Amino acid sequence: MKLTILGTAGAYPGPGGACAGYLVESGDSRILLDCGTGVLANLQKHIPVYQLSHIIISHMHADHFFDLVPLRYLLAFGPRSHRVALHLPPGGAETLLSVVSFLRDPAFFTSFFDVSEYRPGATDISGLRFEFAPVPHYVPSYAMSINGDGRLTYSSDCGPSDVLASLAAGSALLLTEALLTYPAEHGPRGHLTMGEAAEIAARAGASRLLLSHVYHDRDYTAQLALARKTFPGPVEVAELNKSYTV
Ligand SMILES: [Zn+2]
Ligand SMILES: [Zn+2]
Repeated sequence: MKLTILGTAGAYPGPGGACAGYLVESGDSRILLDCGTGVLANLQKHIPVYQLSHIIISHMHADHFFDLVPLRYLLAFGPRSHRVALHLPPGGAETLLSVVSFLRDPAFFTSFFDVSEYRPGATDISGLRFEFAPVPHYVPSYAMSINGDGRLTYSSDCGPSDVLASLAAGSALLLTEALLTYPAEHGPRGHLTMGEAAEIAARAGASRLLLSHVYHDRDYTAQLALARKTFPGPVEVAELNKSYTV
């Protein structure tokens, strides 16, 4: 499997950056995990959009799905129209449509996307075995592992979680969010520090840890050092437009 980073930002992108988006390629499969602001522009640096067959959205926060709107326009008005299978979390279809409610077009997305909602558990998508597991966040959020030649696990947005550690067990690569520069002290947790992500990766016995979903305007030096001390394998901060072999 090849993983290409199309967006590394949580919440809002920096100059020239993009929010969450990850391209997974395996054999003939071209699957996009999340489609946040700026992802569509970066996707086109790597593949022609008509090759994209499936999109999987981890949860319905804007930084993970807002570029579905311009993508829909590309499918409608671009040079080579095709349909894309869009896999949303439970309840996601209604949320997605509400974003364009001002257009009063209930078929806005379904005219170009084959929309479905996945469930927790295992399912086959584009010839790959996916496993979805709910993780702690501020809205329903699903981490996923993808089993191809190797096992790739993506955290979605996620607070400290045993569920993520079990899902990531034996992963060749664990791609996690690492938004916080220090552990949140009050209220329910919905995000990780790099140090916490490294603890989860160590518990899971993952081979490599890739940290993403960060603010471009914060200093993560201390957290990155802590992550490298905590996790025995390679720890990298995801680099925009870089590809990783899983
Ligand atoms: Zn996010
Ligand atoms: Zn979120």
